[in-house]
Amino acid sequence: MAEDEYPDRPKKQRYGLKPRKDKEASCPFCGKVLERPRNVERTRTSGFRGGACECGAVFLLDENGNHGGEAIVEVMTAGCGSWEKAWALTPDVDYRQTVASYDIRAHRISEPGDAYEPAAKLYFFRINSR
Ligand SMILES: [Zn+2]
Repeated sequence: MAEDEYPDRPKKQRYGLKPRKDKEASCPFCGKVLERPRNVERTRTSGFRGGACECGAVFLLDENGNHGGEAIVEVMTAGCGSWEKAWALTPDVDYRQTVASYDIRAHRISEPGDAYEPAAKLYFFRINSR
């Protein structure tokens, strides 16, 4: 993607002199810009905020980055319909799962090497099409 994709974004919103390598939050699988996480129907145990992409990916927000394992279970359950189905799948063969550092206020995802790494994480999951 272009280095300065959002030239109308005020420079002062960037973090001092450190380079930011973030981009507007978008789907890691298809590149579509995502809607902000919102309250989603409870899938299993907890009420993560999240959403879905047109490509079939689902995502959940871990606001403080402390709920990694739980967030993975939740996002897989949301993507599969049930944890039993999710559990039967083979990683990388049947699905892809990834995580990104997420700036909640700016709705942006950090790229590797970004000077600013938000604590919040977005967990993504998508069933592979066959
Ligand atoms: Zn997508």
